[in-house]
Amino acid sequence: MKILAIGKNYADHAKEMGGEAPTTPVVFGMPETALLKGNKPFYIPDFTKEVHHEIELVIRICRPGKHIPEKFAHKYYDKIGLGVDFTARDIQTELKAKGLPWEIAKGFNDSAPLSPFLPIEDFDSINDLDFSLEINGELRQKGNSRDMIFSFDQIVAHLSKYFFLQTGDIIYTGTPAGVGAVNIGDRLCGFIGDRKLLDFEVR
Ligand code: MG
Repeated sequence: MKILAIGKNYADHAKEMGGEAPTTPVVFGMPETALLKGNKPFYIPDFTKEVHHEIELVIRICRPGKHIPEKFAHKYYDKIGLGVDFTARDIQTELKAKGLPWEIAKGFNDSAPLSPFLPIEDFDSINDLDFSLEINGELRQKGNSRDMIFSFDQIVAHLSKYFFLQTGDIIYTGTPAGVGAVNIGDRLCGFIGDRKLLDFEVR
């Protein structure tokens, strides 16, 4: 399986990062070893002094497809979950300034905590879905999928032009505003609506 991710997919986050909202999706990949499941603790690696949290909705591909038209894209994913796209912001900023790829800032070990997936039918509309992140009981990020610059269907259609999407592939779909550093001892809880799907510690 592969993990694909979309950057700057919420205008308020693109703005806080000091950039314009993108006109085509910003795409990057992460290795499978980035996944951290089962609410296991996240250990801040020693190569960074600034790890930022990015709470994101994550979809799971349920059938193989290439060059998927947007109008059929909804048939290619059947589950939704919640993830954190931890980012070594200091390293990413340094590499970006040099015009270099920033994979190591995104795809390092355990950088992508992931909740269990829920069937899409559990929700009235996944295109109007509230999600949020609390740290130590305080609300830090909240978003709604209706504010995505590129919708789930547009993302799947776009990615399938370049990558053969296969069953089990997962897609992190971008974070709303409010990103910031995590610290040792923090407890992160992630919600879709009122459902708590993530609850883990930073060590
Ligand atoms: Mg992200």
